[in-house]
Amino acid sequence: MLLAEQRRLLCEYGHRTAEAGLVVGTSGNLSVRDGDLVAVTPAGAALGRLKPEDCPVVSLDGHPVEGDRTPSSETPLHLAVYRATTARAVVHTHAVFGTVVATTMTELPPVHYNTVLLGGVVRVAEYATYGTPELAAHVEAALDGRRAALMANHGGVTIGDDLEAAFEATRLLEWLCEVYVRAKAVGEPRVLTGEQLAAAARRARRPAHLPRPGDGTARPDHPPHIHT
Ligand SMILES: [Zn+2]
Repeated sequence: MLLAEQRRLLCEYGHRTAEAGLVVGTSGNLSVRDGDLVAVTPAGAALGRLKPEDCPVVSLDGHPVEGDRTPSSETPLHLAVYRATTARAVVHTHAVFGTVVATTMTELPPVHYNTVLLGGVVRVAEYATYGTPELAAHVEAALDGRRAALMANHGGVTIGDDLEAAFEATRLLEWLCEVYVRAKAVGEPRVLTGEQLAAAARRARRPAHLPRPGDGTARPDHPPHIHT
């Protein structure tokens, strides 16, 4: 079986996506790329009940390579993302809070600094009918420089170097959307400025400089090199 390990991982993360409540019914789809081939979840399948042989393999230009099942209707979106980015995995869900934001906003207001872990402020891709090249093009544009995008009146999509990273990005996207929606119910959320986000991004790139046992030099926020 081609891409046997990748198809096994599709099932593992499909099951986890369903268990986490990020999809309902047969919605949502995942894919993983290996070279010029992509393994993708099949159309009309519940992610919680997938088996490796259910997941077809297609070429980057969408031609069937192996598998009996029809690839997900959003396969054109997955393939467009692979052609435009260095991603090795894509996760698409209709998670509740992400869909709430995607239905009401043009971007996810950055109310928490963990927004920087998704590459910056998450954009909402313009609406287009599901499964169309138009939707794929809108999502490709919204993902520019990001690891996540929301899709107007539809759901969300995340990318990663592997399925674990794309799955965790989906969980983080949903968490950020839930925090925003719940904060909005309490009051008007404070939105972080571009400067505050840039500072958080710089901080995320720096090692923590936490002291280790027996190490008297490294202090939090005081790297050794600034002590003269
Ligand atoms: Zn969808």
